Amino acid sequence: TRLVGGDADQDERTVEAALRPRTLAEFVGQERLREQLSLVLDAAKARGRSADHILLSGPPGLGKTTLAMIVAAEMGVPLRITSGPAIQHAGDLAAILSSVSEGDVLFFDEIHRMARPAEEMLYTAMEDFRVDVIVGKGPGATAIPLDLPHFTMVGATTRTGLLPGPLRDRFGFTGHLELYEPAELERVLVRSAGLLEVELRRDGSREIAGRSRGTPRIANRLLRRVRDFAEVRADSIISGAVARAALTVFAVDELGLDRLDRAVLTALCRNFAGGPVGLGTLAVAVGEERETVEEVAEPFLVRAGLLARTPRGRVATPAAWTHLGLAVPRDVAF
Ligand code: ADP
Repeated sequence: TRLVGGDADQDERTVEAALRPRTLAEFVGQERLREQLSLVLDAAKARGRSADHILLSGPPGLGKTTLAMIVAAEMGVPLRITSGPAIQHAGDLAAILSSVSEGDVLFFDEIHRMARPAEEMLYTAMEDFRVDVIVGKGPGATAIPLDLPHFTMVGATTRTGLLPGPLRDRFGFTGHLELYEPAELERVLVRSAGLLEVELRRDGSREIAGRSRGTPRIANRLLRRVRDFAEVRADSIISGAVARAALTVFAVDELGLDRLDRAVLTALCRNFAGGPVGLGTLAVAVGEERETVEEVAEPFLVRAGLLARTPRGRVATPAAWTHLGLAVPRDVAF
């Protein structure tokens, strides 16, 4: 069946869900992580037990949610989903945990954003499969221990360093997702084009992959926009020229920098003369949290050779000035 595109958010999410790989074999790239995960899962299956808790780290859009779904599918169990921002009180966590059955996979997105008061409860839940429910208030309050079924937690975070040590230690396996190489993104695109039933030429996929900032979610999103363009303005076939023209219309530059990437580079060059400038100061200048700048924008900017992290602070490389269409200053700090 053809997946019809649309501009509503709901449609976008439906298409994104339809493009998710369902097995480890279908999951493109991240070879080492895939091999490690398949060992962890096969061993658990052989023992007839639920798998150890798994922590996945890496920038958004690299496949953490997809892998959690695959873990559940490979173990043949249901997936429950929650996220750090949804857990503001210990009671929120207790409610989620009490809905989990034996063997279930619990996906905990953005686990580093969970409220502190829930942490202790999570530790005992993960380690001893038990929670202490506090009944009453003040001196008369009592803790009633409640046994939980054995489940597998799959936690996702942008960087493991954001988690408190005791939480990190409760994961039996930690995997890190790296930004994808252009050739890998091309494989993601070819697969998605097949599912969307759109004709994607080799130079078309190369063009889109090169502007997807190492991120499958962005590659798939750009593919859908290029498909819109190809259907309306061309013969529905995505060639290199069609992709280039489409991406120009959608203001995606040759490196695929997004709004935050550009804001960081612009602030670095215009407000701080190219640096060095501290992360905190840079974050304030772009109106974002430190972690967002560090975990979401910087990994790609560093890989693209536009930004360097030095002991004295962040520095724009000559390539950054050039990319922004600015003259490289003679006394550039880099
Ligand atoms: P995250 O949870 O890390 O933000 P997701 O798992 O939601 O990322 O992935 C975003 C989208 O990118 C998914 O819809 C999926 O289709 C696609 N995707 C991610 N990783 C891969 C991969 N390795 N192979 C194919 N598609 C992928």
